Amino acid sequence: MEQINNYADSRLINGCVYCGGSADTRDHVPSKCLLDKPYPENLSVVGCCDSCNNGFSMDEQYFACLIESVLCGSTDPGKIRRASVARMMKHSPALQQQIENSKTEVNGQIGFIPDMERVSKVMLKLARGHAAYELSLPWRKEPDHFWCGPLSFLPEESQEVFHSVHFQHMTGEVGSRNMQRLMVTQMTITGEDGELKNIDMLINDWVDVQDDQYRYIAIDDMSTSIIRIVIAEYFACEVVWELDNDLE
Ligand SMILES: [Zn+2]
Repeated sequence: MEQINNYADSRLINGCVYCGGSADTRDHVPSKCLLDKPYPENLSVVGCCDSCNNGFSMDEQYFACLIESVLCGSTDPGKIRRASVARMMKHSPALQQQIENSKTEVNGQIGFIPDMERVSKVMLKLARGHAAYELSLPWRKEPDHFWCGPLSFLPEESQEVFHSVHFQHMTGEVGSRNMQRLMVTQMTITGEDGELKNIDMLINDWVDVQDDQYRYIAIDDMSTSIIRIVIAEYFACEVVWELDNDLE
């Protein structure tokens, strides 16, 4: 990943990006268990307290193992595609058993019933991390909109919107990483007088952390922040926060 320095007002983020406690440690966004070696260079890191850092790791492992079990149709480490996840399941028979217990079979199709509380906790944490890193916005309040699930569950027209790049109308926090990623492009439009005009558009594109494994887009339109995440081109998440005067 391209390394981008944050020139936004650092006072916007004080302490742990998840709970506001003291930032004793740094947390990778996304967590390494969702990526494969060799890891991308310059992985994003955000400030985080010890308790949040430890508090999420079991749920993140569960989530990484669940996604792979679904994609491989099995909890057998020998059949798991990602080597690091296969190792995780081998070393934690309890975790493997837990996922195995959630297995269902309908008409010969293997499925797994996810523990949505744990999955949502992980996705919200990732979204908060991306918002803090990309937009310099610590969204600690509950989101105004939250959705996560398999990409294929989205109706086709929603998928198109979900995957598209974002044309930025208003610019977010000056100097944030997201602002520096925006690309300017020129478009030619026909004005009301019939004359052709060139206008500058700002394009906010998806950030590919690791090909086919993890990508996200962070959108800041002043009053609304949107984070979209796609994992293994299978599982997606959308989180929206609306500004209501305070960021807590
Ligand atoms: Zn914390």
